[in-house]
Amino acid sequence: MSVEAAPGVVEGLDAWRSLSARQQPAWPDQDALAAVGRELAALPPLVFAGEADVLTGRLAAAARGEAFVLQGGDCAETFAEATADTIRNKIKTILQMAVVLTYGASLPVVKMGRMAGQYAKPRSADLEERDGVTLPAYRGDAINGHDFTPDARVPDPRRLVEAYHRSAATLNLIRAFTTGGFADLRRVHEWNRGFTANPAYSAYEQVAGEIDRAMRFMAACGADFDSLRSVEFFASHEALLLDYERPLTRIDSRTGTPYDCSAHFLWIGERTRQLDGAHVDFLSRVRNPIGVKLGPTTTADDAFALMDKLNPNEQPGRLTFITRMGAGRIREALPSLVEKVHASGRPVTWVCDPMHGNTISSASGYKTRRLTDVLDEVRGFFEVHRAVGSVPGGLHVELTGDDVTEVLGGSEEIDEDALSRRYETLVDPRLNHQQSLEMAFQVAEMIQG
Ligand code: PEP
Ligand code: MN
Repeated sequence: MSVEAAPGVVEGLDAWRSLSARQQPAWPDQDALAAVGRELAALPPLVFAGEADVLTGRLAAAARGEAFVLQGGDCAETFAEATADTIRNKIKTILQMAVVLTYGASLPVVKMGRMAGQYAKPRSADLEERDGVTLPAYRGDAINGHDFTPDARVPDPRRLVEAYHRSAATLNLIRAFTTGGFADLRRVHEWNRGFTANPAYSAYEQVAGEIDRAMRFMAACGADFDSLRSVEFFASHEALLLDYERPLTRIDSRTGTPYDCSAHFLWIGERTRQLDGAHVDFLSRVRNPIGVKLGPTTTADDAFALMDKLNPNEQPGRLTFITRMGAGRIREALPSLVEKVHASGRPVTWVCDPMHGNTISSASGYKTRRLTDVLDEVRGFFEVHRAVGSVPGGLHVELTGDDVTEVLGGSEEIDEDALSRRYETLVDPRLNHQQSLEMAFQVAEMIQG
């Protein structure tokens, strides 16, 4: 029997419409937007409410120190890159990192892609100027095109429908790859052996060797259980575009409560987390596990107000704080926040985003990051949580499975000159496949303390 929503619940899902919503596109045609909303509302959900509930449970375990979260993927997915190869390489990279982290932490790793919906971006400026020409900024493939032409930059609501279909295709492939044998632990481990066989990465051989012995031990014991062959993999993106999230929100027939079925996990960005704003209101009304990005100016009062609004019932796993302080600030900015929240005893899962506080411009004009800064922020994250006695619950990274050259450093020494070789991101710089694996090996050591 299906349960109906309580009175006012469905109406409440539209309360955001009368609140201030930052970072929304200036859609030129409201009728076309409304038609797209109706079309999306009639399409099937991309994920099930029950899957989102499973993830809530996993995130609660991470908050207790019984699991570790690995969330990774592009800053901005693009329609052109929603191909089998690109998606496979990203999943492969995340699975390889997860094996290393599982070993390092001796904990299950909760795997989550910034995938299948990460098509909209907040921007620091509404306009972009090039050679005396000014056009609207690129806001992600769900909104406008990246080409620097007036036509491409006009927001087009049909792109929301395209984003839905690309997300559906991506999820289909994720589900096939993670349950169809591709994710077999033994196979993922072989890929890692290939990585550490490269002399450039010999520093990681010892850990890889230890994992190898553990694998052979399991095989000798006859271990051949299902969890070696398939993995749980969740989808997530920033819930930026409320004109996309609202029509994909459905009333769960089991409980009569709303879930945003565009992804398992949704987060609110640093730029749209105003307490009285549209994004916080909307996500306060859906039952998915949700995150909020917290930058270096966040006060404990901000954190408490977000907890009051987004998790008033103090459900473990419901709310994740994704801190993104910057390597230079985390050791000053994070302690008082974590101390006060920890002292309150209220449940929060703490995740470190070591990317967004460490963005710099290279002399040649590329938006980039240094791998050393990224790793230093993660180290600071562990130090602060250990000092306070709270739990460092996971990692949120921008990465790709391809050999791009967007982040400086790593054993292959991507330097300023190398950036131009394969700089492909349309927004923020991503760790490439090798840098991602290096990060996993180094973080595995940090977890062990
Ligand atoms: C992002 O995750 O790509 C992003 C824009 O992050 P933040 O909201 O932390 O700036
Ligand atoms: Mn980004």
